[in-house]
Amino acid sequence: MSLVGSSLLILLSVGSEPRDDLPQVRTWDEAAALAPALEEFERSKWIRHRIRHRERVSQIAARYGVRREKLVEWNKLDPQNPYPPKRRRSLKVRTKRLPPPRIHVAYVPEEEETWGDVAAALRVEIPDLRAWNWQRRALQPGTPVTAWVDPAMVWSYRPGGGPPLPESFDVPEGGLSVGRPHRGRLVGGVQLPESALYTRGISRVLWGSTSTIQNLMEAFANFRHDTGFEHEIVVGSISKRNGRRLPPHKSHQSGRDVDIRLPLLPHVPRTKSPNPDEIDWYATWGLIKALGETEAVTVVFLEANLHRRVYEAARSMGETRETLEDYLIFPQWRPKSAPLVRHSDGHDEHIHVRFRCADNEPKCKGK
Ligand SMILES: [Zn+2]
Repeated sequence: MSLVGSSLLILLSVGSEPRDDLPQVRTWDEAAALAPALEEFERSKWIRHRIRHRERVSQIAARYGVRREKLVEWNKLDPQNPYPPKRRRSLKVRTKRLPPPRIHVAYVPEEEETWGDVAAALRVEIPDLRAWNWQRRALQPGTPVTAWVDPAMVWSYRPGGGPPLPESFDVPEGGLSVGRPHRGRLVGGVQLPESALYTRGISRVLWGSTSTIQNLMEAFANFRHDTGFEHEIVVGSISKRNGRRLPPHKSHQSGRDVDIRLPLLPHVPRTKSPNPDEIDWYATWGLIKALGETEAVTVVFLEANLHRRVYEAARSMGETRETLEDYLIFPQWRPKSAPLVRHSDGHDEHIHVRFRCADNEPKCKGK
């Protein structure tokens, strides 16, 4: 190569993002295959984590399976700031798992591909992807964009890997919802039975109508079967045996409202107030979809700012923007028809699911 040619090459590689040395991938799997394997120690060790661009404290804690508060304490971080301070290059972590670091890759978009498509293929968040490629307002087919892909990301979605569907559920008849969710009661309440499908919260508030319990169990069975998700999901509260007021809830009075805690990523320590980065959004989407497919659910409440997380997970699992319009506010924000999942304050650790009145419940009221 001539001298002129090589200096030109250097100029080009400095001036044009992304750099040519980044591996080009089409999928998260291709990116993850480039990374070394996860290492696990018998005892916890101190390691140094090198902070990647836009990496949040909660994401770092989740990837090492340590409590967020611990990471803040060990590194004297500001608990209010989701990001480590700019001047910090690394954080110390005491952990038993050493996942491979995030890897920087390039992706060449094709005709008509959107940011959402690329984010779904690489299993990254849309705002991160936009920020990593801040110079580009729009995607251009053939012009690469870059992303930091997490090869250690937990992919709990295993289609075809789930347990077989039970032939039937033995739910007693006669559990009837009376009145409204906010002013009602339950006659002949049916208690949610113990099951491998879910984990029960406090049993004295796990009473519902026959129809609610039946549909809830079917949804869980379909969800486990379809997604192969193996970890815990806790059903928090439904109603009291005879319904009526269940403080601090306003509803939950007529055996049709069910609170389900958002599932944590498998190695995240149990916590009462999980951060969105500690939630398994793939499992969350799988469950919401299964609930919707019972056609017995009228609404699912989840804080609006979390709909994006569900959307990104769902897209990575093969849903399209169109199929998700019936389910989520994101990304249209002002949907033409009311989607199944709607905003309600205080629903950031659990979803609240409302089942419809059954045909044999003449006294059941309200949507
Ligand atoms: Zn609730």
